Amino acid sequence: MRLAVVGAEGRMGRMLIRAVAETEGCTLSGAVEREGSSALGQDAGTLAGLPPLGVTVTDDPLTVFAATDGVLDFTTPAATTVFAELSAQARIVHVIGTTGLAEADFRKLAAAAHHARIVRSGNMSLGVNLLAGLVRKVAAALGEDFDIEIVEMHHRMKVDAPSGTALLLGEAAAEGRGVDLAETRVSTRDGHTGARRPGDIGFATLRGGTVIGDHSVTFAGPGERITISHHAEDRAIFARGAVSAALWAHAKPPGLYGMADVLGL
Ligand code: NAP
Repeated sequence: MRLAVVGAEGRMGRMLIRAVAETEGCTLSGAVEREGSSALGQDAGTLAGLPPLGVTVTDDPLTVFAATDGVLDFTTPAATTVFAELSAQARIVHVIGTTGLAEADFRKLAAAAHHARIVRSGNMSLGVNLLAGLVRKVAAALGEDFDIEIVEMHHRMKVDAPSGTALLLGEAAAEGRGVDLAETRVSTRDGHTGARRPGDIGFATLRGGTVIGDHSVTFAGPGERITISHHAEDRAIFARGAVSAALWAHAKPPGLYGMADVLGL
């Protein structure tokens, strides 16, 4: 399968180039960066710390999308919605790891999914998707007297909060409980907040250092507490997940899919 990487110079972009190069049955067909990026004109392999791969980083996505079977995209919401439109035009696979998408962005992805095969997830790792399944089960088993709190920590450069993974876990908890996350979500607490509202799902965000991604979900009940957690130690887990998602989606009809579909969870 021919795969292109957009946002090639990013922390995840370079990981994705390596993951494509290391996966049997995949070839890197293109690498895209933003206009003005210092990576333009460089060999994508060299950019990712590999021997040259014969693919030059370009700021012309149109040409790249016309000559690939799939695109791996861990960029920004503004870039991802444009790339989704291009993927729809080219009728290819679009794997989206970008987080911080707003409702309007999701609507654009849904429209693009009429023609593109889109796999989107706030976390592409096997471990977090298994954790989400556990969270759904525990939330369904416990009553509302168990308060749900989600804590995440990421590196100091992360720009959105709560993380896409924290929201994915929040959605799993809400689904398990049969409630709407939008109505129960509490992402900030500051000052005189009053007592905790029963049924709320709380989020706390820590930022600092080089942490790749730590998440824990606590169910705090009367006299006891359950905490389940995941610690990402290497960005390669997300990149490998993204490549698996692309391979999985290659034979699927157009639509919007998640990692639970890819992993058969
Ligand atoms: P990053 O290092 O900032 O990389 C993003 C890259 O995209 C940058 O090189 C950026 O270029 C480039 N870019 C932005 N707009 C572009 C455009 N229009 N065309 C081409 N390239 C463009 O960030 P990161 O740490 O790799 O994370 C990227 C995203 O993936 C974030 O949303 C993050 O939360 C998410 N993420 C998801 C998962 C998951 O499993 N789903 C895992 C890790 C990270 P400039 O620097 O020039 O702006």
